[in-house]
Amino acid sequence: LRRNPGEAEFHQAVREVFDSLGPVLRKHPQYVEAAVLGRICEPERQIIFRVPWVDDAGQVQINRGFRVEFNSALGPYKGGLRFHPSVYLGIVKFLGFEQVFKNALTGMPIGGGKGGSDFDPRGRSDGEIMRFCQSFMSELYRHIGEYTDVPAGDTGVGGREIGYLFGQYKRITNRYESGVLTGKGITWGGSLVRTEATGYGTVVFAEHMLNTRNESLDGQRVVVSGSGNVAVHAIAKAQKQGAQVVSFSDSSGYVVDEGGVDVDLLRQIKEVERGRVADYVERRPGARLVEDGRIWDVPANVALPCATQNEITEDDAKRLIANGVSAVAEGANMPTTSEAASLLQQAGVLFGPGKAANAGGVATSALEMQQNASRDSWSFEYTEERLEGIMADIHDRCIETADEYGEPGNYVLGANIAGFTKVADAMIALGVV
Ligand code: NDP
Repeated sequence: LRRNPGEAEFHQAVREVFDSLGPVLRKHPQYVEAAVLGRICEPERQIIFRVPWVDDAGQVQINRGFRVEFNSALGPYKGGLRFHPSVYLGIVKFLGFEQVFKNALTGMPIGGGKGGSDFDPRGRSDGEIMRFCQSFMSELYRHIGEYTDVPAGDTGVGGREIGYLFGQYKRITNRYESGVLTGKGITWGGSLVRTEATGYGTVVFAEHMLNTRNESLDGQRVVVSGSGNVAVHAIAKAQKQGAQVVSFSDSSGYVVDEGGVDVDLLRQIKEVERGRVADYVERRPGARLVEDGRIWDVPANVALPCATQNEITEDDAKRLIANGVSAVAEGANMPTTSEAASLLQQAGVLFGPGKAANAGGVATSALEMQQNASRDSWSFEYTEERLEGIMADIHDRCIETADEYGEPGNYVLGANIAGFTKVADAMIALGVV
Protein backbone atom coordinates (compact mmCIF):
# COMPACT_ATOMS: atom_id res chain seq x y z
CA LEU A 1 0.00 0.00 0.00
CA ARG A 2 2.79 2.43 0.91
CA ARG A 3 4.66 1.76 -2.32
CA ASN A 4 1.59 2.30 -4.50
CA PRO A 5 -0.55 4.99 -2.87
CA GLY A 6 -3.96 5.80 -4.32
CA GLU A 7 -4.15 2.81 -6.65
CA ALA A 8 -7.35 1.27 -5.28
CA GLU A 9 -8.08 -1.07 -8.20
CA PHE A 10 -4.51 -2.39 -8.20
CA HIS A 11 -4.70 -3.10 -4.46
CA GLN A 12 -8.02 -4.90 -4.99
CA ALA A 13 -6.60 -7.09 -7.77
CA VAL A 14 -3.51 -8.01 -5.74
CA ARG A 15 -5.53 -8.76 -2.61
CA GLU A 16 -7.86 -11.01 -4.58
CA VAL A 17 -4.94 -13.11 -5.85
CA PHE A 18 -3.07 -13.15 -2.53
CA ASP A 19 -6.21 -14.28 -0.68
CA SER A 20 -6.02 -17.52 -2.69
CA LEU A 21 -2.32 -18.22 -2.23
CA GLY A 22 -2.09 -19.36 1.43
CA PRO A 23 -2.32 -23.10 0.67
CA VAL A 24 0.19 -22.96 -2.18
CA LEU A 25 2.75 -21.03 -0.12
CA ARG A 26 2.45 -23.53 2.73
CA LYS A 27 2.97 -26.41 0.31
CA HIS A 28 5.79 -24.77 -1.69
CA PRO A 29 8.00 -22.60 0.57
CA GLN A 30 10.37 -21.98 -2.35
CA TYR A 31 8.02 -19.23 -3.55
CA VAL A 32 8.50 -17.37 -0.29
CA GLU A 33 12.26 -18.01 -0.19
CA ALA A 34 12.68 -16.61 -3.72
CA ALA A 35 10.59 -13.50 -2.80
CA VAL A 36 8.26 -14.25 -5.68
CA LEU A 37 5.33 -12.40 -4.10
CA GLY A 38 7.26 -9.15 -3.77
CA ARG A 39 8.68 -9.45 -7.27
CA ILE A 40 5.41 -10.41 -8.95
CA CYS A 41 3.67 -7.23 -7.71
CA GLU A 42 6.34 -4.94 -9.08
CA PRO A 43 6.00 -4.26 -12.82
CA GLU A 44 9.20 -4.85 -14.76
CA ARG A 45 8.76 -1.48 -16.44
CA GLN A 46 6.20 1.37 -16.35
CA ILE A 47 6.06 3.98 -19.07
CA ILE A 48 4.02 7.20 -18.78
CA PHE A 49 4.05 9.68 -21.63
CA ARG A 50 2.51 12.84 -23.07
CA VAL A 51 0.08 12.45 -25.97
CA PRO A 52 -0.47 15.83 -27.67
CA TRP A 53 -2.89 16.08 -30.59
CA VAL A 54 -5.00 18.65 -32.41
CA ASP A 55 -8.82 18.41 -32.36
CA ASP A 56 -11.19 19.33 -35.19
CA ALA A 57 -11.52 22.87 -33.84
CA GLY A 58 -7.75 23.36 -34.13
CA GLN A 59 -7.23 23.23 -30.35
CA VAL A 60 -4.24 21.38 -28.91
CA GLN A 61 -5.32 18.59 -26.55
CA ILE A 62 -3.05 16.80 -24.10
CA ASN A 63 -3.68 13.30 -22.82
CA ARG A 64 -1.58 10.91 -20.79
CA GLY A 65 -0.42 7.58 -22.22
CA PHE A 66 0.57 4.46 -20.23
CA ARG A 67 2.19 1.12 -20.87
CA VAL A 68 2.89 -1.12 -17.89
CA GLU A 69 5.13 -4.04 -18.86
CA PHE A 70 4.34 -6.25 -15.92
CA ASN A 71 5.92 -9.65 -16.30
CA SER A 72 7.80 -11.36 -19.13
CA ALA A 73 8.74 -14.66 -17.48
CA LEU A 74 6.59 -16.67 -19.90
CA GLY A 75 6.91 -14.60 -23.07
CA PRO A 76 6.68 -11.07 -24.47
CA TYR A 77 4.39 -8.70 -22.54
CA LYS A 78 0.86 -9.10 -23.92
CA GLY A 79 -2.30 -7.19 -23.08
CA GLY A 80 -4.65 -4.56 -24.40
CA LEU A 81 -4.81 -0.78 -24.60
CA ARG A 82 -7.74 0.99 -22.96
CA PHE A 83 -8.90 4.47 -24.02
CA HIS A 84 -11.32 5.80 -21.40
CA PRO A 85 -11.38 8.98 -19.26
CA SER A 86 -11.14 6.88 -16.07
CA VAL A 87 -7.70 5.48 -17.03
CA TYR A 88 -4.86 6.25 -14.62
CA LEU A 89 -1.89 4.25 -13.37
CA GLY A 90 -3.94 2.25 -10.81
CA ILE A 91 -6.33 0.97 -13.50
CA VAL A 92 -3.52 0.05 -15.90
CA LYS A 93 -1.65 -1.78 -13.12
CA PHE A 94 -4.72 -3.74 -12.00
CA LEU A 95 -5.36 -4.79 -15.58
CA GLY A 96 -1.69 -5.65 -16.14
CA PHE A 97 -1.49 -7.67 -12.93
CA GLU A 98 -4.62 -9.68 -13.84
CA GLN A 99 -3.24 -10.18 -17.32
CA VAL A 100 -0.08 -11.92 -16.03
CA PHE A 101 -2.11 -14.75 -14.45
CA LYS A 102 -4.73 -14.89 -17.19
CA ASN A 103 -2.08 -15.28 -19.87
CA ALA A 104 -0.35 -18.00 -17.86
CA LEU A 105 -3.68 -19.85 -17.57
CA THR A 106 -4.12 -19.93 -21.34
CA GLY A 107 -1.04 -22.16 -21.60
CA MET A 108 0.35 -19.89 -24.35
CA PRO A 109 3.89 -18.40 -24.27
CA ILE A 110 2.90 -14.85 -23.35
CA GLY A 111 3.80 -12.53 -20.48
CA GLY A 112 1.50 -9.81 -19.16
CA GLY A 113 1.17 -6.08 -19.72
CA LYS A 114 -1.47 -3.42 -20.25
CA GLY A 115 -1.68 0.17 -21.42
CA GLY A 116 -3.94 2.95 -22.50
CA SER A 117 -4.84 6.57 -22.09
CA ASP A 118 -7.29 8.88 -20.34
CA PHE A 119 -8.45 9.93 -23.83
CA ASP A 120 -12.26 9.83 -24.21
CA PRO A 121 -13.16 8.57 -27.69
CA ARG A 122 -16.88 9.24 -27.24
CA GLY A 123 -18.14 11.97 -29.57
CA ARG A 124 -14.77 12.27 -31.33
CA SER A 125 -14.65 12.30 -35.13
CA ASP A 126 -12.81 9.69 -37.13
CA GLY A 127 -10.09 12.23 -37.92
CA GLU A 128 -9.61 13.02 -34.23
CA ILE A 129 -9.39 9.33 -33.35
CA MET A 130 -6.74 8.86 -36.05
CA ARG A 131 -4.64 11.82 -34.96
CA PHE A 132 -4.82 10.70 -31.35
CA CYS A 133 -3.76 7.14 -32.25
CA GLN A 134 -0.89 8.44 -34.36
CA SER A 135 0.38 10.63 -31.53
CA PHE A 136 0.01 7.78 -29.01
CA MET A 137 2.02 5.42 -31.23
CA SER A 138 4.68 8.06 -31.89
CA GLU A 139 5.90 7.37 -28.35
CA LEU A 140 4.71 3.79 -27.80
CA TYR A 141 6.51 2.39 -30.85
CA ARG A 142 9.94 2.50 -29.18
CA HIS A 143 8.77 0.21 -26.36
CA ILE A 144 6.94 -2.52 -28.29
CA GLY A 145 7.80 -5.28 -30.79
CA GLU A 146 7.04 -8.84 -31.74
CA TYR A 147 9.60 -10.15 -29.20
CA THR A 148 9.14 -7.51 -26.50
CA ASP A 149 5.59 -6.28 -26.05
CA VAL A 150 2.48 -6.94 -28.15
CA PRO A 151 -0.51 -4.67 -27.36
CA ALA A 152 -4.11 -5.36 -28.41
CA GLY A 153 -7.51 -3.68 -27.95
CA ASP A 154 -9.61 -3.23 -24.82
CA THR A 155 -12.33 -0.74 -23.86
CA GLY A 156 -12.40 2.08 -26.43
CA VAL A 157 -9.85 0.36 -28.68
CA GLY A 158 -11.30 -1.80 -31.46
CA GLY A 159 -10.40 -2.63 -35.04
CA ARG A 160 -10.43 0.99 -36.21
CA GLU A 161 -7.99 2.14 -33.53
CA ILE A 162 -5.67 -0.87 -34.01
CA GLY A 163 -5.59 0.05 -37.72
CA TYR A 164 -4.48 3.62 -37.04
CA LEU A 165 -1.95 2.45 -34.45
CA PHE A 166 -0.51 -0.18 -36.78
CA GLY A 167 -0.35 2.29 -39.68
CA GLN A 168 1.69 4.72 -37.60
CA TYR A 169 3.99 1.96 -36.28
CA LYS A 170 4.68 0.81 -39.83
CA ARG A 171 5.31 4.36 -40.99
CA ILE A 172 7.75 5.20 -38.19
CA THR A 173 9.69 1.93 -38.24
CA ASN A 174 9.45 1.11 -41.96
CA ARG A 175 8.71 -2.49 -40.94
CA TYR A 176 5.63 -4.54 -41.75
CA GLU A 177 5.88 -6.23 -38.38
CA SER A 178 2.49 -7.95 -38.19
CA GLY A 179 3.26 -9.53 -34.83
CA VAL A 180 3.60 -6.19 -33.03
CA LEU A 181 -0.14 -5.71 -32.43
CA THR A 182 -3.11 -8.09 -32.34
CA GLY A 183 -6.74 -7.42 -33.19
CA LYS A 184 -5.72 -6.42 -36.71
CA GLY A 185 -8.12 -6.47 -39.69
CA ILE A 186 -8.40 -9.74 -41.58
CA THR A 187 -6.86 -8.41 -44.81
CA TRP A 188 -3.77 -7.02 -43.04
CA GLY A 189 -2.62 -9.73 -40.69
CA GLY A 190 -5.55 -10.25 -38.33
CA SER A 191 -7.05 -13.55 -37.24
CA LEU A 192 -10.59 -14.71 -37.80
CA VAL A 193 -12.45 -15.15 -34.48
CA ARG A 194 -10.29 -12.57 -32.63
CA THR A 195 -13.13 -10.02 -32.60
CA GLU A 196 -15.60 -12.56 -31.28
CA ALA A 197 -13.17 -14.42 -29.01
CA THR A 198 -13.64 -12.78 -25.59
CA GLY A 199 -17.43 -12.88 -25.67
CA TYR A 200 -17.57 -16.35 -27.24
CA GLY A 201 -15.01 -17.68 -24.80
CA THR A 202 -16.92 -16.32 -21.80
CA VAL A 203 -20.04 -18.15 -22.92
CA VAL A 204 -18.08 -21.35 -23.55
CA PHE A 205 -16.69 -21.07 -20.02
CA ALA A 206 -20.19 -20.52 -18.58
CA GLU A 207 -21.42 -23.59 -20.47
CA HIS A 208 -18.60 -25.72 -18.99
CA MET A 209 -19.42 -24.49 -15.49
CA LEU A 210 -23.10 -25.35 -15.93
CA ASN A 211 -22.18 -28.78 -17.34
CA THR A 212 -20.54 -29.66 -14.00
CA ARG A 213 -24.07 -29.58 -12.55
CA ASN A 214 -25.65 -31.34 -15.51
CA GLU A 215 -27.15 -28.06 -16.70
CA SER A 216 -26.59 -26.08 -19.89
CA LEU A 217 -27.32 -22.65 -21.34
CA ASP A 218 -30.12 -24.00 -23.47
CA GLY A 219 -33.38 -22.38 -22.38
CA GLN A 220 -31.73 -20.22 -19.68
CA ARG A 221 -32.58 -16.56 -19.16
CA VAL A 222 -29.39 -14.49 -19.44
CA VAL A 223 -28.49 -10.89 -18.59
CA VAL A 224 -25.40 -9.36 -20.23
CA SER A 225 -24.09 -5.96 -19.16
CA GLY A 226 -22.34 -3.64 -21.65
CA SER A 227 -22.88 -3.42 -25.38
CA GLY A 228 -19.30 -3.24 -26.61
CA ASN A 229 -17.06 -5.82 -28.19
CA VAL A 230 -17.25 -8.40 -25.42
CA ALA A 231 -20.97 -7.98 -24.73
CA VAL A 232 -22.30 -8.25 -28.30
CA HIS A 233 -20.38 -11.44 -29.01
CA ALA A 234 -21.36 -12.92 -25.65
CA ILE A 235 -24.99 -12.21 -26.54
CA ALA A 236 -24.61 -13.77 -30.00
CA LYS A 237 -22.91 -16.91 -28.66
CA ALA A 238 -25.35 -17.35 -25.76
CA GLN A 239 -28.22 -17.17 -28.24
CA LYS A 240 -26.50 -19.80 -30.41
CA GLN A 241 -26.41 -22.03 -27.33
CA GLY A 242 -30.17 -21.67 -26.99
CA ALA A 243 -30.27 -19.04 -24.24
CA GLN A 244 -32.78 -16.19 -24.05
CA VAL A 245 -30.75 -12.95 -23.58
CA VAL A 246 -33.10 -10.28 -22.23
CA SER A 247 -30.92 -7.32 -21.26
CA PHE A 248 -27.79 -5.28 -22.08
CA SER A 249 -26.49 -1.80 -21.20
CA ASP A 250 -24.12 1.07 -21.70
CA SER A 251 -23.16 3.88 -19.35
CA SER A 252 -26.45 5.68 -20.10
CA GLY A 253 -28.72 2.85 -18.88
CA TYR A 254 -29.93 -0.66 -19.56
CA VAL A 255 -32.43 -2.15 -21.96
CA VAL A 256 -34.89 -4.96 -21.22
CA ASP A 257 -36.08 -6.86 -24.28
CA GLU A 258 -38.27 -9.76 -23.19
CA GLY A 259 -38.56 -10.87 -26.83
CA GLY A 260 -34.83 -11.68 -26.84
CA VAL A 261 -32.13 -9.23 -27.90
CA ASP A 262 -31.92 -8.53 -31.65
CA VAL A 263 -28.14 -8.74 -31.84
CA ASP A 264 -27.94 -7.62 -35.48
CA LEU A 265 -29.81 -4.42 -34.65
CA LEU A 266 -27.62 -3.87 -31.59
CA ARG A 267 -24.42 -4.30 -33.63
CA GLN A 268 -25.71 -1.94 -36.33
CA ILE A 269 -26.32 0.74 -33.68
CA LYS A 270 -23.15 0.18 -31.66
CA GLU A 271 -20.56 -0.80 -34.26
CA VAL A 272 -21.75 0.97 -37.42
CA GLU A 273 -23.61 4.03 -36.16
CA ARG A 274 -21.67 4.27 -32.87
CA GLY A 275 -24.98 5.13 -31.18
CA ARG A 276 -26.42 4.61 -27.68
CA VAL A 277 -28.67 1.90 -26.25
CA ALA A 278 -31.61 4.36 -26.38
CA ASP A 279 -31.46 4.11 -30.19
CA TYR A 280 -32.21 0.38 -29.89
CA VAL A 281 -35.42 0.99 -27.97
CA GLU A 282 -36.64 3.46 -30.58
CA ARG A 283 -36.41 0.80 -33.28
CA ARG A 284 -37.44 -2.30 -31.35
CA PRO A 285 -41.11 -2.54 -30.32
CA GLY A 286 -41.54 -3.97 -26.84
CA ALA A 287 -38.03 -3.11 -25.61
CA ARG A 288 -37.73 -0.60 -22.78
CA LEU A 289 -34.90 1.59 -21.50
CA VAL A 290 -34.14 2.00 -17.79
CA GLU A 291 -31.91 5.01 -17.22
CA ASP A 292 -31.72 5.05 -13.43
CA GLY A 293 -31.41 1.54 -12.14
CA ARG A 294 -29.31 -1.58 -11.81
CA ILE A 295 -29.24 -4.08 -14.65
CA TRP A 296 -28.77 -6.87 -12.07
CA ASP A 297 -32.36 -6.28 -10.88
CA VAL A 298 -33.50 -8.02 -14.08
CA PRO A 299 -34.20 -11.65 -13.06
CA ALA A 300 -31.87 -14.15 -14.74
CA ASN A 301 -30.47 -17.67 -14.38
CA VAL A 302 -27.10 -16.60 -15.78
CA ALA A 303 -25.35 -13.23 -15.50
CA LEU A 304 -22.50 -12.19 -17.79
CA PRO A 305 -20.98 -8.87 -16.67
CA CYS A 306 -19.19 -7.58 -19.81
CA ALA A 307 -18.88 -3.81 -19.25
CA THR A 308 -16.37 -2.65 -16.65
CA GLN A 309 -14.73 -3.15 -13.23
CA ASN A 310 -16.78 -3.28 -10.00
CA GLU A 311 -20.15 -3.25 -11.74
CA ILE A 312 -21.61 -6.00 -9.52
CA THR A 313 -21.73 -4.68 -5.96
CA GLU A 314 -22.74 -6.49 -2.77
CA ASP A 315 -26.35 -5.28 -3.19
CA ASP A 316 -26.40 -6.44 -6.79
CA ALA A 317 -25.12 -9.87 -5.70
CA LYS A 318 -27.91 -10.13 -3.10
CA ARG A 319 -30.47 -9.29 -5.76
CA LEU A 320 -29.01 -11.82 -8.21
CA ILE A 321 -29.10 -14.53 -5.53
CA ALA A 322 -32.66 -13.65 -4.50
CA ASN A 323 -33.70 -13.94 -8.15
CA GLY A 324 -32.19 -17.43 -8.37
CA VAL A 325 -29.06 -16.89 -10.48
CA SER A 326 -27.12 -20.13 -10.91
CA ALA A 327 -23.99 -18.93 -12.74
CA VAL A 328 -21.97 -15.72 -13.15
CA ALA A 329 -19.12 -15.63 -15.69
CA GLU A 330 -17.02 -12.46 -15.90
CA GLY A 331 -16.56 -11.22 -19.48
CA ALA A 332 -15.14 -7.94 -18.20
CA ASN A 333 -12.06 -7.60 -15.99
CA MET A 334 -12.87 -7.59 -12.24
CA PRO A 335 -16.53 -6.61 -12.75
CA THR A 336 -17.50 -8.13 -9.39
CA THR A 337 -16.35 -6.52 -6.14
CA SER A 338 -14.59 -8.87 -3.70
CA GLU A 339 -17.54 -8.73 -1.29
CA ALA A 340 -20.03 -9.53 -4.05
CA ALA A 341 -17.89 -12.42 -5.33
CA SER A 342 -17.74 -13.93 -1.82
CA LEU A 343 -21.52 -13.65 -1.41
CA LEU A 344 -22.15 -15.37 -4.74
CA GLN A 345 -19.75 -18.18 -3.92
CA GLN A 346 -21.19 -18.67 -0.43
CA ALA A 347 -24.66 -18.93 -1.98
CA GLY A 348 -23.43 -21.79 -4.17
CA VAL A 349 -23.53 -19.79 -7.42
CA LEU A 350 -21.05 -20.99 -10.05
CA PHE A 351 -18.62 -18.08 -10.29
CA GLY A 352 -16.12 -17.83 -13.18
CA PRO A 353 -13.54 -15.06 -12.55
CA GLY A 354 -12.45 -12.91 -15.48
CA LYS A 355 -8.91 -14.19 -15.57
CA ALA A 356 -10.32 -17.57 -16.56
CA ALA A 357 -13.69 -16.76 -18.16
CA ASN A 358 -12.54 -13.93 -20.45
CA ALA A 359 -9.14 -15.40 -21.36
CA GLY A 360 -10.42 -16.40 -24.82
CA GLY A 361 -9.58 -12.95 -26.17
CA VAL A 362 -5.92 -13.00 -25.31
CA ALA A 363 -5.65 -16.68 -26.22
CA THR A 364 -6.91 -15.90 -29.72
CA SER A 365 -4.48 -12.98 -29.86
CA ALA A 366 -1.75 -15.55 -29.25
CA LEU A 367 -3.22 -17.59 -32.12
CA GLU A 368 -3.02 -14.43 -34.24
CA MET A 369 0.68 -14.16 -33.29
CA GLN A 370 1.19 -17.80 -34.35
CA GLN A 371 -0.41 -17.10 -37.73
CA ASN A 372 1.72 -13.96 -38.19
CA ALA A 373 4.92 -15.83 -37.30
CA SER A 374 4.18 -18.58 -39.82
CA ARG A 375 2.69 -16.16 -42.41
CA ASP A 376 -0.44 -18.23 -42.45
CA SER A 377 -4.14 -17.58 -41.93
CA TRP A 378 -6.53 -20.14 -40.54
CA SER A 379 -10.22 -20.70 -41.26
CA PHE A 380 -12.93 -19.47 -38.90
CA GLU A 381 -13.95 -23.02 -38.02
CA TYR A 382 -10.42 -24.16 -37.21
CA THR A 383 -9.67 -21.06 -35.12
CA GLU A 384 -12.95 -21.34 -33.23
CA GLU A 385 -12.19 -24.99 -32.52
CA ARG A 386 -8.81 -23.97 -31.10
CA LEU A 387 -10.49 -21.30 -28.94
CA GLU A 388 -13.04 -23.78 -27.62
CA GLY A 389 -10.29 -26.27 -26.80
CA ILE A 390 -8.34 -23.60 -24.91
CA MET A 391 -11.42 -22.56 -22.90
CA ALA A 392 -12.14 -26.19 -22.01
CA ASP A 393 -8.52 -26.61 -20.85
CA ILE A 394 -8.67 -23.43 -18.73
CA HIS A 395 -11.90 -24.60 -17.15
CA ASP A 396 -10.46 -28.03 -16.35
CA ARG A 397 -7.23 -26.53 -14.99
CA CYS A 398 -9.25 -24.37 -12.58
CA ILE A 399 -11.31 -27.36 -11.45
CA GLU A 400 -8.31 -29.66 -11.01
CA THR A 401 -6.34 -27.04 -9.08
CA ALA A 402 -9.29 -26.24 -6.82
CA ASP A 403 -9.67 -29.98 -6.13
CA GLU A 404 -5.93 -30.36 -5.43
CA TYR A 405 -6.07 -27.58 -2.85
CA GLY A 406 -9.20 -28.90 -1.15
CA GLU A 407 -11.74 -26.38 -2.44
CA PRO A 408 -13.74 -28.20 -5.13
CA GLY A 409 -15.69 -25.89 -7.44
CA ASN A 410 -13.81 -22.76 -6.33
CA TYR A 411 -12.87 -21.28 -9.72
CA VAL A 412 -11.33 -18.17 -8.14
CA LEU A 413 -8.87 -20.21 -6.11
CA GLY A 414 -8.23 -22.58 -9.02
CA ALA A 415 -7.50 -19.78 -11.50
CA ASN A 416 -5.32 -17.80 -9.11
CA ILE A 417 -3.20 -20.76 -8.01
CA ALA A 418 -2.86 -22.33 -11.48
CA GLY A 419 -1.83 -18.97 -13.00
CA PHE A 420 0.47 -18.06 -10.12
CA THR A 421 2.41 -21.34 -10.00
CA LYS A 422 3.10 -21.25 -13.73
CA VAL A 423 4.53 -17.74 -13.59
CA ALA A 424 6.30 -18.27 -10.26
CA ASP A 425 8.06 -21.43 -11.45
CA ALA A 426 9.32 -19.63 -14.53
CA MET A 427 10.49 -16.66 -12.45
CA ILE A 428 12.47 -18.94 -10.15
CA ALA A 429 14.01 -20.77 -13.12
CA LEU A 430 15.12 -17.46 -14.65
CA GLY A 431 16.89 -16.33 -11.47
CA VAL A 432 16.64 -13.01 -9.67
CA VAL A 433 16.10 -10.73 -12.65
P1 NDP B 1 -15.92 -1.69 -25.31
O1 NDP B 1 -15.36 -0.34 -25.24
O2 NDP B 1 -16.14 -2.32 -26.65
O3 NDP B 1 -17.32 -1.74 -24.54
C1 NDP B 1 -17.46 -1.42 -23.18
C2 NDP B 1 -18.94 -1.42 -22.89
O4 NDP B 1 -19.17 -1.30 -21.52
C3 NDP B 1 -19.66 -0.26 -23.55
O5 NDP B 1 -20.96 -0.66 -23.89
C4 NDP B 1 -19.67 0.76 -22.43
O6 NDP B 1 -20.69 1.75 -22.52
C5 NDP B 1 -19.97 -0.14 -21.27
N1 NDP B 1 -19.61 0.50 -20.02
C6 NDP B 1 -18.41 1.02 -19.69
N2 NDP B 1 -18.49 1.54 -18.47
C7 NDP B 1 -19.75 1.33 -18.06
C8 NDP B 1 -20.45 1.62 -16.88
N3 NDP B 1 -19.85 2.25 -15.86
N4 NDP B 1 -21.76 1.24 -16.77
C9 NDP B 1 -22.39 0.60 -17.79
N5 NDP B 1 -21.76 0.31 -18.94
C10 NDP B 1 -20.47 0.66 -19.06
O7 NDP B 1 -14.98 -2.61 -24.41
P2 NDP B 1 -14.81 -4.18 -24.42
O8 NDP B 1 -16.11 -4.82 -24.72
O9 NDP B 1 -13.63 -4.51 -25.26
O10 NDP B 1 -14.38 -4.46 -22.91
C11 NDP B 1 -15.33 -4.64 -21.87
C12 NDP B 1 -14.67 -5.30 -20.69
O11 NDP B 1 -14.09 -6.55 -21.09
C13 NDP B 1 -13.52 -4.52 -20.06
O12 NDP B 1 -13.48 -4.79 -18.68
C14 NDP B 1 -12.28 -5.13 -20.71
O13 NDP B 1 -11.11 -4.96 -19.93
C15 NDP B 1 -12.71 -6.59 -20.75
N6 NDP B 1 -11.99 -7.43 -21.70
C16 NDP B 1 -11.96 -7.11 -23.03
C17 NDP B 1 -11.29 -7.92 -23.91
C18 NDP B 1 -11.35 -7.70 -25.38
O14 NDP B 1 -10.90 -8.59 -26.12
N7 NDP B 1 -11.89 -6.61 -25.88
C19 NDP B 1 -10.51 -9.08 -23.44
C20 NDP B 1 -10.67 -9.39 -22.04
C21 NDP B 1 -11.37 -8.55 -21.22
P3 NDP B 1 -20.32 3.27 -22.96
O15 NDP B 1 -20.10 3.17 -24.43
O16 NDP B 1 -21.51 4.06 -22.57
O17 NDP B 1 -19.08 3.66 -22.19
